[in-house]
Amino acid sequence: MNHKDLWLLIIKDLVADIKRANVITWFKNTAILKIENGVMTVGLPLPVFLNWHAQNYSKLILKTAMKHDSKITQIAYEVDITLADTDPRVVDLLKHFPAKESRKLPNKREVKLVGGVVSKMFNSSYSMDNFTIAPENRLAHAAAITVAKHPGENYNPLFIYGGVGLGKTHLLQSIGKEVLTNDPTKVVVYTTTESFTNELIEGIQSRNMNKFRNKYRKVDVFIIDDIQFIANKDRTQEEFFHTFNTLFDAGKQVIISSDRSPHELKLLQERLVSRFGSGMTIDVKMPDYESRLAILRNKCQEKEVFINEQVLEFISFNIDTSVRALIGVLNQAVAQYELENVSPTVKSVAEIIKRTKQEVKMVGFIKENNTPHHAVTLEQLTDFVAEYYTIPKSEVLGESRAREYLQPRQIIMYLAKSKLRLSLAKIGQYLGNRNHTTVMNAISRMQAQLKNNRQLLCDVNAITREAGIH
Ligand code: ADP
Ligand code: MG
Repeated sequence: MNHKDLWLLIIKDLVADIKRANVITWFKNTAILKIENGVMTVGLPLPVFLNWHAQNYSKLILKTAMKHDSKITQIAYEVDITLADTDPRVVDLLKHFPAKESRKLPNKREVKLVGGVVSKMFNSSYSMDNFTIAPENRLAHAAAITVAKHPGENYNPLFIYGGVGLGKTHLLQSIGKEVLTNDPTKVVVYTTTESFTNELIEGIQSRNMNKFRNKYRKVDVFIIDDIQFIANKDRTQEEFFHTFNTLFDAGKQVIISSDRSPHELKLLQERLVSRFGSGMTIDVKMPDYESRLAILRNKCQEKEVFINEQVLEFISFNIDTSVRALIGVLNQAVAQYELENVSPTVKSVAEIIKRTKQEVKMVGFIKENNTPHHAVTLEQLTDFVAEYYTIPKSEVLGESRAREYLQPRQIIMYLAKSKLRLSLAKIGQYLGNRNHTTVMNAISRMQAQLKNNRQLLCDVNAITREAGIH
């Protein structure tokens, strides 16, 4: 069997254990370079892959390789920057592992239930399973679960309130879905206050109010989202009061969401306020930093994408207004990742956040605006390069002359001199107490390499751009 076929076989096996998106990311433009004396040498296109492979995949790859070729006993890695899409040794991953067709959603936005009752479609991406529990929404989530299990028995009505984008609609729709899963014969209506009002106006115009009133008698679970839009509509409030009482008296479950508490709604129909508050009233707030991080991690898993932990931390730290905004930034980062096939970095995500006009606190080495070069310190540059190549900073600063650390170290020296304009002595001292001639030699070697090593040039350009020192 030739190397390429063997590599494809191995990757095919790996797909059972590794998510497709990760396989595409970390196995793109890789190949078996040679198999000699039982050592299988795997070629990687970038130095940044080395550590990741060593830590995450090498054992699995070896085990799988041994299964297919019993002569293989060891695995070695080599960075070969000539490995690219066009290289005949490389397996075309996208051809062999095409993206799963995304499930087509029915484009109907409403479903007709018995007797002309209409329910908005449940959004397929909202479920109890993909709702991340945080201290700030724990109670609302627990109540939602209880109501979904025993509609009409406890917590009636269930009134959930809180700011925009904090998961109210998500919870409401999940309850609806859950009720139907538990008992498909139940009539569940999810509607927005806007739709309810429109329907009411139609009823008034066609002088058919009785029909409007009667149909809700058939509903077992009535879910109405964003009740705050009822605020100045006296007639809608009156009619809603009527509908509410009909359902409530028949022991049917009512679930309401609002952007503020019943008392803050300032309803013209005062009696509604006490009705709303007669069951269970719970607020949802913005999840704390750790929970925001958990939400992002869960989303990545759901989407089957790998995003650097530091990037997720940066998003969580900077977005504290709404979960919608939080996920929005992640989605944009993922879109960029899928389109351009570049993993999001702290810097690229910071750009996205800026674009969404969120106030960015900017942690770490990223500077708020285009700060002049000297604002980036040697230590920050080192952090940045270590992160870029996913290697430990201690190794960069240390003694090791291994290739995977040598080149990043040389890049730091080169940039510290050319961009940060630091003295050779200072650079040498910081980078593991090396003397100034070592630094000078490294820099001239770097300059020479940059002339004919395109990949290296790309890396260095990316680093300067992202570190804001270009
Ligand atoms: P609201 O109705 O309160 O304005 P949504 O329910 O529309 O907010 O939530 C906004 C987005 O955030 C949705 O994509 C939703 O799935 C997501 N979301 C909110 N809270 C959570 C959570 N705790 N776990 C997972 N996703 C959440
Ligand atoms: Mg909503």
